[in-house]
Amino acid sequence: MIGLALVTGVTTAAITAAGYQSMAPTGQWFGRTFTGLPRGIKQLALTYDDGPNDPHTFHLLDVLARHDAQATFFLIGRYVQQRPDIARDIVKAGHIVGNHTFTHPLLTFKSAAEVRQELSDCRSGLEDAIGGSSNSASSSSISNLFRPPFGGRRPGVLRIARQLGLVPIMWNVTGFDWTAPPAEVIEQKVTKQIRGGDVILLHDGGHKEMGADRSQTVLATDHLIAKYKSEACEFKTIPQMLAANP
Ligand SMILES: [Zn+2]
Repeated sequence: MIGLALVTGVTTAAITAAGYQSMAPTGQWFGRTFTGLPRGIKQLALTYDDGPNDPHTFHLLDVLARHDAQATFFLIGRYVQQRPDIARDIVKAGHIVGNHTFTHPLLTFKSAAEVRQELSDCRSGLEDAIGGSSNSASSSSISNLFRPPFGGRRPGVLRIARQLGLVPIMWNVTGFDWTAPPAEVIEQKVTKQIRGGDVILLHDGGHKEMGADRSQTVLATDHLIAKYKSEACEFKTIPQMLAANP
């Protein structure tokens, strides 16, 4: 019985760990994903999920422009279909847009066909809004970057993404801004985790519906850029980070 209990215990631990790894932003068990550069590098990547979102994405674009900072946006396809103009404005401002699926499901519970559909529908939405794709010769700004909703992934999800030419991008600094806490709280959470070379997860939208209040994220962004620029950090897009540090 002791043996059985031990085996059961080990199995439970393994399953729990696997479950954790399927959601942990920096976990690498289920395939390599980019989560940031080596510690100490004076570069930071701001990433915003769940947009486009009126009016907060516009306000965020104003803040980024004021600081001359570039960012990466992981857009939800169905929102892009609703507001292609915002997606175009993001790209026009020189930022990078990536694929955050069409309806924002937890992909770990989806079939291969559903995963494929979610990714290609989002890509179509982006192409309709912005035009071209990363595979074409045009200088389109639709990147081949993909971020799984909720960070949820398993080997099958990453394999399908790669088959579609997509590069999964996770993060190593979490802003915990999805419940819209005050800007100071978001700033504290981020600041505590920064160690250089980081990919910072923030949200300019909400996955449940368009219109989520992200004013505190916008304010926190303003303060964080000012703080880290004063410490000689550069704000890079994910492709810039990947190119400089292959
Ligand atoms: Zn999301």
